[in-house]
Amino acid sequence: MDFDSTIALSKSPSGAILVVDDTPGNLHILFDALTQAGYEVRCVKSGAMALIGVEVEQPDLILLDIRMPGMNGYDVCQQLKANSLTSEIPIIFLSALGEPLDKVRAFQMGGADYITKPFQFEEVLVRVRHQLMIRNLQKQRKELIEALERANHELRRLAILDELTQIANRRHFDYYLAQEWKRLARDRCPLSLIMADIDHFKQFNDWWGHLAGDRCLQQVARTIANTIKRPADLAARYGGEEFAILLPNTDLNGALQVAEAVRLAVEELIITDVPQHPRQRLTLSLGIATMIPSPNESFQRLVAVADRALYKAKAEGRNRVCV
Ligand code: GH3
Ligand code: MG
Ligand code: MG
Repeated sequence: MDFDSTIALSKSPSGAILVVDDTPGNLHILFDALTQAGYEVRCVKSGAMALIGVEVEQPDLILLDIRMPGMNGYDVCQQLKANSLTSEIPIIFLSALGEPLDKVRAFQMGGADYITKPFQFEEVLVRVRHQLMIRNLQKQRKELIEALERANHELRRLAILDELTQIANRRHFDYYLAQEWKRLARDRCPLSLIMADIDHFKQFNDWWGHLAGDRCLQQVARTIANTIKRPADLAARYGGEEFAILLPNTDLNGALQVAEAVRLAVEELIITDVPQHPRQRLTLSLGIATMIPSPNESFQRLVAVADRALYKAKAEGRNRVCV
């Protein structure tokens, strides 16, 4: 093999190793023996070439000579450890420097192991295998942690969402209301709540069936969620065909505007897969409550007042907003 062409390559699935040594004889021996052991081996003759080689393709392990012309092994190691893309590649130093202090320095630089030259190839092989095993375990652990984090994130998402409508569920609404009640009591700022209930939804269900009813609830939920604009606003399914919209830092005027916008958006909604509602378009009745929360009062009062306003909207003929 010609090591004047700075990179030599041999393929195998059990791990990719980059060997860095300025002595062609060492590269020959290590290349042949590691290749025979089943590794994919690349060899380079200098520290500078090693840094380039690592960028071209990341090895699973680096065997690194210390004394080399130009950049020495310690400097190469330091640069690799300082780069987040290469910092986790294990480095085994291979050096004729056999003093304990040389070894200490190698480990301080972030080296994973140290082999003194002249080396016994069996020892090199055992230490290589050992480092690759550790590296694999680390990779597996990292993947496992990432998978767990993804699963946790999904669980948290599921815990706060209503399954049918994919907007916030009642539990999250209660939690958020309690939080905002406390926060706005401290800030002395208004909190508005809109309770909205679909009009004559029982008829709709009786006429078109529950599945069409479910799809209708999904459309209404999406319409409400798309109508509210501020990041702190929350639309939730309160239960059945009833929705709650919480508007922090919003006074009665603001809440009226939102409620009216929601009422109009639902009135204009074309309910898909239902040819025509027998009596009328689908409509909402909405009740608003606005309060500056008081620390001595329960947030349930806001819900009770909004409920009463909703009841009034129903009694006055539906498809309207009441305060
Ligand atoms: P009102 O205008 O007074 O609100 O009349 P309504 O018929 O909408 O009210 P009522 O409380 O009598 O009936 C609510 C209906 O909503 C009962 C049920 O058929 C329907 N409903 C509640 N939850 C769901 C659901 O998850 N899926 C479906 N498809 N229908 C639901
Ligand atoms: Mg209803
Ligand atoms: Mg109802």
